[in-house]
Amino acid sequence: MITRRLGKLGWPVSVIGFGGIPVQRCDETEAIRVIQAAFRAGVNFFDSARGYTDSEKKIGAALKEYPREQFILASKSMARTAEGMLAEIAKSRADFGVATIDLYQFHNVRLPEELARILAPGGALEGAREAQKRGWVRALGITGHVTDLLEKAVVTGYFATCQFPLNVVENRAIERLLPACREQNMGTIVMKPLAGGAFGPQWAEKALRYLLAFPVSVIIPGMDSVDQVAANCRLGEEAKPLDPAEEQELLAFAQTLGQQFCRRCEYCLPCPEGINIPLIFLLDGYWSRYNLEEWAVDRYKNVAVKAEACVQCGRCEERCPYDLPIREMITRAGRHLQGPA
Ligand code: SF4
Ligand code: SF4
Repeated sequence: MITRRLGKLGWPVSVIGFGGIPVQRCDETEAIRVIQAAFRAGVNFFDSARGYTDSEKKIGAALKEYPREQFILASKSMARTAEGMLAEIAKSRADFGVATIDLYQFHNVRLPEELARILAPGGALEGAREAQKRGWVRALGITGHVTDLLEKAVVTGYFATCQFPLNVVENRAIERLLPACREQNMGTIVMKPLAGGAFGPQWAEKALRYLLAFPVSVIIPGMDSVDQVAANCRLGEEAKPLDPAEEQELLAFAQTLGQQFCRRCEYCLPCPEGINIPLIFLLDGYWSRYNLEEWAVDRYKNVAVKAEACVQCGRCEERCPYDLPIREMITRAGRHLQGPA
């Protein structure tokens, strides 16, 4: 596996890291198999979050038999106060089952007032620094989807790493955020490399190889099967960027996603009616793009609050950073996913 440096921290990181969301779906035994397979294939960067239910526990349980210095543990929290952050870091340590977490990130910072709150006296930065003093955490980072805000955050100098989405359809980071991070010598962690599942299995390889050409530290696809681990890690070994013809193919596919494409950032939530908007768009993507109508209709049956519950209040649209016409899209998705009458 190719390694790169995690910015000013200088830590060698495998170019393919482990995104900790999908292991939530695996039972404990399978999760351990998948995580250990990743470690054995050369992955040394494992990213989780307080919000990912039992992901930290599964990662900790899987890696406990390996020498601690051979892997980097990263997690993150939505806490914005000093007290809250310290308490969250304590829980992450307990869940991972380690004394020290390598990288702790301020999770999904999206509004200027949120950043201000984190940095203010009594804010989450204070709590995270206290955790550093106690030896609970080695370095601090920030994560988010709103590139303008992250650009402001990176120049504060408080963060060693920045985690942001990057893929062929969500590439706003390339123009200013990535250069700004490089100027600050920050580690760069790419989330959503497969556009939150929009690139199905047939496009995963090209989508990851597309990213290998960028000067980022580590790309963290979520993985929930040993086969996925093997396929992704092979790309990290070969590190073969796309040739121009392959890139054209990927761009042509990206075009088919069109303007009405949900990036699954979840900013639109909560919906007052309890609709899981990105989940419904994900299922609709399978229905409309991957020829999986029956499968999607079947999965939709288990979705607690259906698209039909939408009262068209429009609150979600005010919050969507991509200006998606959510009301129109959710109505259409509901029609598709109801299945044949
Ligand atoms: S418009 Fe519909 S989906 Fe959006 S917040 Fe209102 S009820 Fe929820
Ligand atoms: S609808 Fe918009 S805000 Fe909601 S998850 Fe999709 S892209 Fe994000």
